[in-house]
Amino acid sequence: MSRKVRADIHLDAIVHNYRLAKAQAPGARAVAVVKANAYGHGAVPVARRLAAEVDAFGVACIEEALELRAAGITQPVVLLEGFFDADELPVIAREGFWPALHSEHQLEWLEQASLPQAIPVWLKVDTGMHRLGFEPEVVPAMVARLRDCSSVSDVLLMTHFACSDEPEHGMTEVQLARFSKLIDELGLAASLSNSAAVMAWPEAYRQWLRPGVMLYGATPFEQSNAVADQLQPAMTLSSEIIAVREVPAGETVGYGATYRCDKPSRIGTVAMGYGDGYPRHARTGTPVVVEGQRTALVGRVSMDMLTVDLTDLPQAGVGSRVELWGGQLPVSDVARWCDTIPYTLLTCLTPRVPRFYD
Ligand SMILES: *Cc1c(COP(=O)(O)O)cnc(C)c1O
Repeated sequence: MSRKVRADIHLDAIVHNYRLAKAQAPGARAVAVVKANAYGHGAVPVARRLAAEVDAFGVACIEEALELRAAGITQPVVLLEGFFDADELPVIAREGFWPALHSEHQLEWLEQASLPQAIPVWLKVDTGMHRLGFEPEVVPAMVARLRDCSSVSDVLLMTHFACSDEPEHGMTEVQLARFSKLIDELGLAASLSNSAAVMAWPEAYRQWLRPGVMLYGATPFEQSNAVADQLQPAMTLSSEIIAVREVPAGETVGYGATYRCDKPSRIGTVAMGYGDGYPRHARTGTPVVVEGQRTALVGRVSMDMLTVDLTDLPQAGVGSRVELWGGQLPVSDVARWCDTIPYTLLTCLTPRVPRFYD
C-alpha cells in the first residue's frame, strides 16, 4: 500500500463559504479568488464546482486565467495583478478577462493597442498599501484617459486593504475615506473587500467583493469573528503513523536533537514533512490530531516525516490516522504555532500531496 498523505478537498464547503460571503452584502457581486491554485485546493476543480453561481473568478495572472478557460470555465476572470506585457492584451480581449490596471505603462499599452473588442478595466487605486496602484490625486485624470481609450469598455475602481484583518486598526478607515471620496466624485462602481473586509468591514461593501481565503474556510483574524465562526474548512490534510518508538527520558528526537524527552515517551512517526508542504518551522507543541484526539508535534519536521507525542494516547499506533489540519483542527491554529498565516500553509502544499475531492 502507498503513503497515506492526502488532502481531502470539500467542495461543498467552498460553495457554502462563497454563499456566506455574498450573504454579508446582499446585492453585491463577488469575485471568487482562485489564484495560486485556489490557495492550494486545485483551481480547476474548485472553479468547476463554483461555476454555476459565481459572478467572476479572480487570479493573479493570465496563465492562471487561461488554465480556467482550458477547463471550460466561461465566467469573467479578473486578473488581480493586471498584465505584465502588451502582448497579453489581445488574449485578454478574446478570452473575456478583466485586468487590473495599476501603472501608467499599462495604460500606455492600452492606448496603443487595437483590440478586437474593448475590455473592462479595474483601475487600482493606492490608498495606503503602497504596493500597486495610482495615487488618488491622479485617478480622475487616468479615468478620463481610459474613457477616451477605444480599447476600454468600462472602468471600475478597486483598492486593497493593508490591515482589514485587524478590526481595531485605524488604517482601514483611512483607506476607506480616501477611496470613498474618489468613487463619490467619479460615480464609478467599486471593489474593496478581501475576506477580512467582507467579514468585518460592512462600511466597505460596494458593487464587488473579492473573497479569497474565506472561501477555503480559513479565518484571516487572530480573534474570533461571528462570520468566520460560520466558515467550513475546505481542506483536511491527513496521514498516518508509520512507526512508534519507546524513547527513554533524557533521549532526544529528530534532527538537531532539539527535543529532549523529560519522561519515558511514546513517539509516533508520521508520514508528513516539509516535502509535502508541512512547515519545517512548526514548533514543538504544534497541535496534531491522532485518532480524533489532540496531541502535539515534538522535535523538528523533516522532509518526509514528523514526530508526535503519543505518551497519553495508548490506543494510537502504527496505522492511526493523523489530521494535520482540517475539520478537527483549524488551519489557523496550526499557523499560529508556525509563526505564519493560514494562507501560506494552504498554498505551500506541494504536488506530492494527492488531492481528493468530495
Ligand atoms: C488575493 C487577493 C484578494 C483575496 O484576499 P483574501 O485575503 O484571501 O480574501 C483580494 N483582492 C486582491 C487584489 C488580491 O490580490
